[in-house]
Amino acid sequence: MDARIEKITRESERLIRKQKMSELLSEDHDKKVKRSGVLVDEFVENLGLDTVYVSTSGGKDSACVSRLCKENYPEIKHIMFDTGLEYQATKDLAKKQGAIIIPPKTGWKVFCEEKGYPVGSKQVSKRIHDAYVSPLGAVLTMFSKVYHLSDKWLHFLDPELVDFPISQKCCDEFKKRPAKKVKLNPIMGTRIQESNQRKNAWKKSGCNSYSLDYKHGISRPISLWTDVNVDRYIDEKGIELSEIYTQYEQKRTGCVNCPYGAQMDGSRFDLLKKLEPTRYNYFINRTHLGYILALSGVEIVSDDTYMAKMKKAQERVKKWHIEAKGNDKYFTFKVKWLTDNYADEDIMRALNHIRKNLMYDYEQIKKKIEEAPSKLKKVKCLENDEVYEDVESAAKALDLTTSLVADQLCGIRKSVKKGSKTYHFRRINEQRRIKK
Ligand code: SF4
Repeated sequence: MDARIEKITRESERLIRKQKMSELLSEDHDKKVKRSGVLVDEFVENLGLDTVYVSTSGGKDSACVSRLCKENYPEIKHIMFDTGLEYQATKDLAKKQGAIIIPPKTGWKVFCEEKGYPVGSKQVSKRIHDAYVSPLGAVLTMFSKVYHLSDKWLHFLDPELVDFPISQKCCDEFKKRPAKKVKLNPIMGTRIQESNQRKNAWKKSGCNSYSLDYKHGISRPISLWTDVNVDRYIDEKGIELSEIYTQYEQKRTGCVNCPYGAQMDGSRFDLLKKLEPTRYNYFINRTHLGYILALSGVEIVSDDTYMAKMKKAQERVKKWHIEAKGNDKYFTFKVKWLTDNYADEDIMRALNHIRKNLMYDYEQIKKKIEEAPSKLKKVKCLENDEVYEDVESAAKALDLTTSLVADQLCGIRKSVKKGSKTYHFRRINEQRRIKK
């Protein structure tokens, strides 16, 4: 199909899905199950049984998808990407389902020490990470109406409190990257009820999505199932579940050590302590996870030593917030953080870029930045190791325009190309701790 027509078709399908979403979510259970079966058939017919697999995590949703696929394709491949962070019980169940288990390439601690630990949620981790990557990332984290980091997580930006990297890259490394490497087409048990990100992905691409040449795809046949549908299907089909659900009444399986959402319920760590005490001890006491949980106020009621540390950390956090909040709701703190980490002109360029979406008045921020100017001025070209006094000098010496160099420094542009050469720049006396 012509790419332009394909684009129009996909756009109109997106609009239809947007309008029909609530109707489809409340559809009759049997109809939904039937529709999901048809989606699996369509996916297998389009791509071939040899090229597709059920991506299983040992959780309830993937157990439903596994059963749904086995109805018509009993020999369909099952793959579990072992993050190294699952319960043994979950892995045992996946093996029983006939899954090939692909082990992780890197240890969790080694990865997180270099690329960043997860904190709070994917969004929180990304905002903290991006603040250290570019002025645009920092300005979005501090001042964007939509993307700003919620005040209660701001203490994670204080190098006095947190001297290790934070990022959202953990899932990419342990879940997404291995899946990309197998070069097969996954059938997954994700559902739109789980997150806004999944809802938006469904609105954009639907349950079965394909590459433009229809050679690759991803199927999410139970996207529209609710928790009720999942439980009913499990009951009706007598599907065996991990004992993490059946004996220990957890709502999810998945990574035993994940801090995402733990601030609302830390009981997953009590369970880990009970079931696998050695691993619990490793994660809490020999990685930065215990400290992250303490700074997030997560309660692990079965661990007195941790609880004492957590209470102490929370006293510090409380004090920190009283000081940082001041009389202007963190405004002075945010401006100081920006000017400590980036040059004025880079901050202003980034601010101009999101000027219409700022949560504070633009002039107010500008005035405050002028009052507390940054000391960061010099620019280093990473290709020739030369240091220049400022953006203009760098641009002049390399025969580039100042806006190209400035755009790259503030994160709007990833690189500057001239002829066959590509340039990267950075402010040399900067204090960023996370590599791009
Ligand atoms: S779920 Fe949590 S621990 Fe597991 S890979 Fe994702 S961020 Fe890491």
